[in-house]
Amino acid sequence: MKCILTPLIRWPNSLCHYRYSGDEFVVCTSIQDKRDLESYVNSLLDAIKVPILLDNYTFRITAKSGVVVSSNEGDTLDELKRRADFALYEAKGMRSSVVFYEKSIDEKYQRLGQIEYELKSALTNNELYIAYQPQCDFSGQVKGIEALARWTNPTLGSVRPDHFISVAESSGDILSIGNFLLQKAMKEVNEILMPNTLPISLSINISVIQLLSEGFREQLISSFQEYNDNPNVTVQLEVTESVFIENKTYVIELLSKLKNDGFLISLDDFGTGYSSLSLFEKLPLNELKLDKAFIDRVTESYRSEQMVHNIIMLAKSMGVKVVAEGVETKEQKLLLEKYGCDLFQGYLFSKPLDKESLKQYIECHSK
Ligand code: C2E
Ligand code: CA
Ligand code: CA
Repeated sequence: MKCILTPLIRWPNSLCHYRYSGDEFVVCTSIQDKRDLESYVNSLLDAIKVPILLDNYTFRITAKSGVVVSSNEGDTLDELKRRADFALYEAKGMRSSVVFYEKSIDEKYQRLGQIEYELKSALTNNELYIAYQPQCDFSGQVKGIEALARWTNPTLGSVRPDHFISVAESSGDILSIGNFLLQKAMKEVNEILMPNTLPISLSINISVIQLLSEGFREQLISSFQEYNDNPNVTVQLEVTESVFIENKTYVIELLSKLKNDGFLISLDDFGTGYSSLSLFEKLPLNELKLDKAFIDRVTESYRSEQMVHNIIMLAKSMGVKVVAEGVETKEQKLLLEKYGCDLFQGYLFSKPLDKESLKQYIECHSK
């Protein structure tokens, strides 16, 4: 990288520039005005983008930039580098190529750092637990339950799962946390259900890293054998479309094996990702979950209504059940029911519940 870039870019206006680490470079400039700085950085990024022809192959490099402006003479170089790094992380997670450091970015990354730190001991300190949200048919009978992770930490308070799960994914802790959650969910649901309960599915969210980790299938089977002794409970794995960004053939094979093992497969957050119809056709799916974003719009716009109608028809034609998530109003439920949606999950029916409240809910809502 360094040897290709250095002759290409003359780094105009830079007081100094150097390679910071791996593929990261630092440029110091005396430009102060934010707009001038932005166009200066963009000119550097444009220069990097110029295709490079090597041995008849064209290479295209893209880059992102985090910018920090020194506000006073007391800023140390280390502090400025740390801030530029945070801004760069932010840029990497966003569409924009240039992000200027702001205090809120610092707060965000400090909190993420704290989450990562505290999460390390969350399991041993017994801070993780599960909330269960019922999934009902049109008459209100419970047919399924989704297990949703919860975490309350003495320092951080209650942390939302969409915040701590992504941290656990990048730190690698998702493997032990995910395994703990799936065992706990099976154990608790078996504890509250009567032996002669009506058939019910227990849906567990599985992160991509967990699914693709070595030995996942074997571990899942052994947990199932150990904790799930009620034949009326079927375990359903909720995966998102992001699993298919990885090796599609491998993932499809793995999911097919899991299906053969007796697990159900649900595609979560449908409509928010990259799904293509050809992929959809190959997937060994039992269920498709219409994302809340769709449901929010279904009674608001005719286009959304038609889209939901078509997705339900498509799923049905492939023998795949449809669950609508985030159903909050009767109007949404009526419309979804009209188009043949099988199950409903959302505040209209119930918020996520603790184990005891779930037990009572099931007792009142299953014939
Ligand atoms: P998700 O799997 O799409 O879960 C549905 C989210 O929508 C849940 O948020 C649920 O509480 C919320 N929800 C359900 N009905 C309604 C409604 O009518 N209105 C509104 N406003 N919200 C509703 P929650 O529990 O905060 O979970 C957020 C996300 O965190 C989940 O999205 C899932 O991606 C992730 N997550 C939660 N638990 C786990 C877990 O055990 N493992 C993994 N890998 N991810 C998890
Ligand atoms: Ca889910
Ligand atoms: Ca979802």
